[in-house]
Amino acid sequence: MPELPEVQTTVNGLNTVARNHSIRAIWTDYKSAFHEGKDNIKNPAYFPYFKKEVTGRTILGATRIGKNILISLSGGRTVLIHMKMTGHLLYGHYLFQKGTWKPADPSSPLGDPYNRFIHLVFSLSNGKHLAFSDARKFAKILVVKTDQLAKHADLGAIGPDPLSPRFTLTTLRERLALRPHARIKQALMDQHLIAGIGNIYSDEILWRAGIHPESIVSHISAAALAAIFKAMKPLLEEGIDFGGDSTSDYRNIYGERGAFQGRHHAYRRTGDACDRKGCTGTIARRIVGGRSAHFCTKHQIKV
Ligand SMILES: [Zn+2]
Repeated sequence: MPELPEVQTTVNGLNTVARNHSIRAIWTDYKSAFHEGKDNIKNPAYFPYFKKEVTGRTILGATRIGKNILISLSGGRTVLIHMKMTGHLLYGHYLFQKGTWKPADPSSPLGDPYNRFIHLVFSLSNGKHLAFSDARKFAKILVVKTDQLAKHADLGAIGPDPLSPRFTLTTLRERLALRPHARIKQALMDQHLIAGIGNIYSDEILWRAGIHPESIVSHISAAALAAIFKAMKPLLEEGIDFGGDSTSDYRNIYGERGAFQGRHHAYRRTGDACDRKGCTGTIARRIVGGRSAHFCTKHQIKV
C-alpha cells in the first residue's frame, strides 16, 4: 500500500502537471454493490453526483493528509483520493479503445503493466488525462465541500503528520502513549496515532532504531523512543527523495517506478544477513497484528 512518501510523490506530481487545468469530463467503470449507500464513486448511485460536482472545475493544487490525496478545485470543492492497496494516479495522453483506456504511447512508462488497470479518468482542458490505475479496486474516491473538509469523518480521526515541523519527540511519545499495550510496529502503523506510516516504513524505522517490532509501547525506554524518532523523519524524507517505493504496484504520476525498494534493510529481506555494520544477525519475518514484520534477529532488541 502506498505510504506517506508515495502519496507525497503523487501529490508533488499533481502539482507539477495538473495545476490550472480544468476537468472537462469524468469516466469510470467502478461499480460495486458492496458500496451501495456510501460516499464513494464505486457506488453507482454516487457517481452522477461526483460527476456533477467536479466537472467544469479547475484544479488549484494538491495536498496530503496522512495517506489521503486532496485535490483542491475551484468553487470550493475537494476531491479526496485514498489509493489503498494498489491505486495510483497517472498523467498523460490516453485513448479510449474497445471500452477501455490505453496510453497513446504504450512504449512510455505509462505502458508499464502495473499501470493498465484504469478505472477512473479525468479528461483535462489541455487534452491530457488524469487516469487512476487500481488493480485490486480498493481505492476510495469522493468529493467534499472544501470548507467541510476538516470535519470530514475520513480525515478528522487521523493523527499528526510525522513530517510536520510541529511533530517532535514529545508528539511521538504522547501519540504512542494512547496505545500503551500495543506492539510498537502496530502503533506506528495506526493512522489514528501517526499519519502515513505503513508496513514498509515501520519495518525500516525499527531496523534503524534497533527496536524489535513486537516490543510493547509502554516498555520502550526514553532512549529507544528517541532512536525511533531520530530514524523516522529522515527515512520518510529519503522515501520521497527516492521517488517512493515500487516493491508493489506504486508508480509515480508519469507511470515510473520509485527507487526506495533498493534501499531496504529489513522489509522483504527475510533470510538475508543484516547489513548493519558489525551485526551478525539475519533478517526474519513474523506476523505482528496480521501484518508481516521483517527485523534483524540480533540488533533489534525486544522490550
Ligand atoms: Zn542486525
